[in-house]
Amino acid sequence: MNFHVMTLFPGMINNAMGESITGRAIKAGLINVNAVDIRDFAINKHSRADDYPYGGGAGMVMQAEPVYLCYRHICSQIQKKPLQDEEGIIKKEPGIRVIYLTPQGKVFNQKLAEEYAAEKDIIFLCGHYEGIDERVTEEIVTDYVSIGDYVLTGGELPALVIMDAISRLVPGVLNNCISASTESFSDNLLEYPQYTRPAVWRGKEVPPVLLSGNHKKLAEWYREQSVIRTALMRPDLLEDAELTQAERKIADGITRKNKI
Ligand code: SAM
Repeated sequence: MNFHVMTLFPGMINNAMGESITGRAIKAGLINVNAVDIRDFAINKHSRADDYPYGGGAGMVMQAEPVYLCYRHICSQIQKKPLQDEEGIIKKEPGIRVIYLTPQGKVFNQKLAEEYAAEKDIIFLCGHYEGIDERVTEEIVTDYVSIGDYVLTGGELPALVIMDAISRLVPGVLNNCISASTESFSDNLLEYPQYTRPAVWRGKEVPPVLLSGNHKKLAEWYREQSVIRTALMRPDLLEDAELTQAERKIADGITRKNKI
């Protein structure tokens, strides 16, 4: 999986992705992060990639041309050949997904992470200040994605959130390959509660089934706890979950009680 990030702050991307699980995945060659500085494509001698907004108003806007040149540069890296330098607007490179991080986009979730994990190359476009000149986003962006209904200073943190979620789905990145498939949001259920040693902590015991060594009972307990937890925390997810009649009864009982 190759992540290409168009950003004014490549250090933010490289530093965060270089740590922990993603850092190990990069070293193992399972994922690759190519953070490209949009300022390197600035068209003035001060390396500025922003300017005042037309029509006035607060803040600055990222200019179209540096973003566009940066995009063309990354496309040529992906296709391993120089792209022709033509006059005017050149259409999107077919087959290359360009995700613009914006609070105006559709909200990112696990399903989107799974969809993106199937791509070989993904380009992220991180905005800053008041955003990016609309003319270039219209030309190059394929997906408008938000990480939630709040406004951040830049698209770097959202890009990192999304790259992290995708990376965990790349085969080999997690040590335990089962873990991503039993986690929250797979099958529209939240994950069961987790415990570790000691078996008794300040007088609180772990559920005895976890110490029983009975795999069948354990699997039943995990499943039941997932249903209970989802009914308690995120009942909205249960609408699309495939539940047995008995599980549906347990879930309905909890959600009814919570409404009272
Ligand atoms: N003026 C823009 C608006 O009102 O929609 C907000 C610009 S924001 C201050 C600067 C940049 O941060 C955006 O271009 C985007 O890349 C990023 N950003 C901010 N909040 C975000 C969110 N919730 N999800 C994804 N990207 C976000």
